[in-house]
Amino acid sequence: MARRNTNLREMDIASHLHAQTNLKAHETTGPLIVAGGEGCYFYDDSGKRYLDMHAGLWSLSLGLGNERLAEAAARQFKTLAYAQTFGHRSSEPVIELCDALVNLAPVPMSKTMLQSSGSEANDTAVKIAWYYWNSRNEPGRRKIIARKRAYHGTTAVAASLTDLPHMHAGFGLPLPGFLHVSCPDTYRGPNEGESEAEFATRLAEELDATIRREGPETIAAFIAEPVMGAGGIYTPPDTYFPKIREVLDRYGILLIADEVICGFGRTGSWWGSQSYGVQPDMITSAKALSSSYLPISALMINQKIYETIADKSDSVGVFGHGYTYGGHPVCAAVALETIRIYQEDALIDRAAGLDAVMRRHLEPLKDHPLVGDVRGRGLMWGVEVVADKQTKKAFEPAQKVGARVSNACFQKGLNTRAVGGHVLAFTPALIVTEEEISTAAGLLTDALDQVEAELK
Ligand code: PLP
Repeated sequence: MARRNTNLREMDIASHLHAQTNLKAHETTGPLIVAGGEGCYFYDDSGKRYLDMHAGLWSLSLGLGNERLAEAAARQFKTLAYAQTFGHRSSEPVIELCDALVNLAPVPMSKTMLQSSGSEANDTAVKIAWYYWNSRNEPGRRKIIARKRAYHGTTAVAASLTDLPHMHAGFGLPLPGFLHVSCPDTYRGPNEGESEAEFATRLAEELDATIRREGPETIAAFIAEPVMGAGGIYTPPDTYFPKIREVLDRYGILLIADEVICGFGRTGSWWGSQSYGVQPDMITSAKALSSSYLPISALMINQKIYETIADKSDSVGVFGHGYTYGGHPVCAAVALETIRIYQEDALIDRAAGLDAVMRRHLEPLKDHPLVGDVRGRGLMWGVEVVADKQTKKAFEPAQKVGARVSNACFQKGLNTRAVGGHVLAFTPALIVTEEEISTAAGLLTDALDQVEAELK
């Protein structure tokens, strides 16, 4: 076994400002240094191996060590390492990727814009909604409606769309004009005796009431993840999105589908929008677009939006938006190769087929004393720990029970994450095997047993 590199640990503490980390605690805990990996496994700098049931950040869809992606990047680096997209410039992989995405879209889409992250894609979507309404002489339409517990990223706009307390605390966010309505939490949301369909109708009525209260002439767009991810993995009732669309159509409000997690197979379809009947005007995607091998995200817009903003850009003289690294040819070449692998290896169908395997291995956990709910679709599952199964009472946040379970998993060589505080994410790569799912479910059960014993 290799020795831990103490020097690197000290350097990390001394000079690395970490993302989504307790900065003070890091001064004593130091980093976990990931040194390598293969498929669904990674190992740290001591050589300890972990089975990654979170696929990086629900993103490493082809696992580690994919030679085809490495070769696609190397080829493109040698052909053309960089070209920009301002002022009519383009490059072959960028053109092919934009075209491939428009052809893959779940509903008719007209154009694709490339950026480097999911946050940037959502930021761009909001700016385009504003530009659209300005172009249509309705500049009062500025407000964006998102949902409670949503996660849409970390730029100032994307964090304002997000509704997780730690993403706002200390930053003075959300910015004014970002609203949040209830999310389709089918575990705790429905009232006594209320069916899922009735619950969905009630949520659509809440949206309608919010729009009327604020004034429809002030609302630009509504944004939603088809399956809510970081907030706690909430799969919506089947009627939820069709009902939401009906309400939005009543007032001409745009619908943005944030497919950053769901896009490219996670729910067993190419898009979460297909799994849950979402009819978006704009779609954002990232993560599995390149299997996370390189930073790239895509925003697609429909023809109605395109025509309007094209006219506006003509009158202004330029569409004043874009990034140095938006449309990076190497990232685009890797994304194209990723999509080819999904198609050639039929990985989206594979994810759909593995739904039954996940169900078979995870649903028995409902009998565990700490588990209140197990929910998901395809390869996007959550196991929710609760203080009281009967009343569905959550643990006190200070008890950090979700984090304790994920830490216990980690000690046993299983990587997962407690999202929304108390939901263990089971969201492996699309190449995961049945055996790996079974091993992971066994390790999670052991970890739950351990934490249950500690709590007694
Ligand atoms: N949207 C969703 C649904 C996400 O889960 C994330 C990240 O986890 C983002 C947007 C932000 O993406 P990024 O971290 O690439 O900015």
